[in-house]
Amino acid sequence: MELADRAATIRAAYVHIPFCARLCPYCDFAVVTDRDDQTARYCKALTLEIEREKEWAPLDSIYVGGGTPSRVDPQQLGLVLDALAAQHGFSEEPEVSIEANPEDWSLDRALALRQAGFNRVSFGAQSFNSSTLLRLGRRHQPDQIAVAVFAAREAGFSSINLDVIFGTPGDGSWGETLVAALSLRPDHLSCYALTVEPGTELFRQVAAGSRGPDPDQQADAWETAAAAAESAGLVRYEVSNWARPGHAVNYNLAVWAQAEYLAFGLGAHRFRSKVRSHNYRHLDTYLAAAEKGASTWAGEEPIEGWTSEVERVFLGIRRVAGVRAGPAGEALWHSDEGQTLAKHGVIELDGGRLVVRRTLLTDAVARALLALPPPPIQN
Ligand code: SF4
Repeated sequence: MELADRAATIRAAYVHIPFCARLCPYCDFAVVTDRDDQTARYCKALTLEIEREKEWAPLDSIYVGGGTPSRVDPQQLGLVLDALAAQHGFSEEPEVSIEANPEDWSLDRALALRQAGFNRVSFGAQSFNSSTLLRLGRRHQPDQIAVAVFAAREAGFSSINLDVIFGTPGDGSWGETLVAALSLRPDHLSCYALTVEPGTELFRQVAAGSRGPDPDQQADAWETAAAAAESAGLVRYEVSNWARPGHAVNYNLAVWAQAEYLAFGLGAHRFRSKVRSHNYRHLDTYLAAAEKGASTWAGEEPIEGWTSEVERVFLGIRRVAGVRAGPAGEALWHSDEGQTLAKHGVIELDGGRLVVRRTLLTDAVARALLALPPPPIQN
């Protein structure tokens, strides 16, 4: 079995911490501002939601994301990890990740988070240029990123990621950001294109005539990132993610391998027993449900049959390793659209695996997959 496919056996859990100091203009995550007085109550609600989940296998990977988890008291987060460990157990060397903003980080906080059980940190660096950070609505200064990375290392975090964003309109500092990020020798680098999501402040600005991200410039920026990351010894394993050997994120690998995973907290999405479900996105509704011991689910969708097969390929093609073609991959390959993609060197069938060779066209391949008609029902 390919290493990427073995990730389907990883037991992963996601925990969402929604608190933020203010809303960044491009953000469409489930977040709240001006509600920091609720963090302890929220963590308690998380433990109640965790206790309600039917016992599973020991967890290999826990990812605490947000929002801004680094705004919350490490001891409160430790209680959430304790609840997960009590309910499901942890495997021998679990990956326990936390997302953090550089401005919240200090050696004391890093040590407290290590004490609570975290061993991996992902910093929302986004840019090393102060004007670009300002445009993105971020609160930190570039030099705070290095300070945060050094403190994380000193505290004993064994894996450090930097998230960076490219394609901010008017940003001429992408090269500078890559050099600065890679000079910190991160174990993992995630490079994301700025996207204009409906309902965000950025969406309103662009609709009102402001300049939005330029897809051609974003494609160039991705190519620049790929060359820089690889020359710094990082290996790409997914469209937007590079890692030193041994530092690919198990939580991500599990999701792309269509593994089942747990998820807790505001707006969190999970996949268990062939059902995808998601939680309430409104904080008070979520808290009230969790505190009553009621379900926090706002909706669910069964993922079975052809839907599941298409999803398996849809998720798997994001990986450099590609995915076993199977019925959906074969159907794509033999379709008119698939043949056109193959002719232009976008996709390839390699030893029974469907692989996207022109990474920046992964979304186009995904759209072609989703447009495939389900196979006729056999009698
Ligand atoms: S810090 Fe992150 S989660 Fe919070 S508003 Fe900004 S982008 Fe969204």
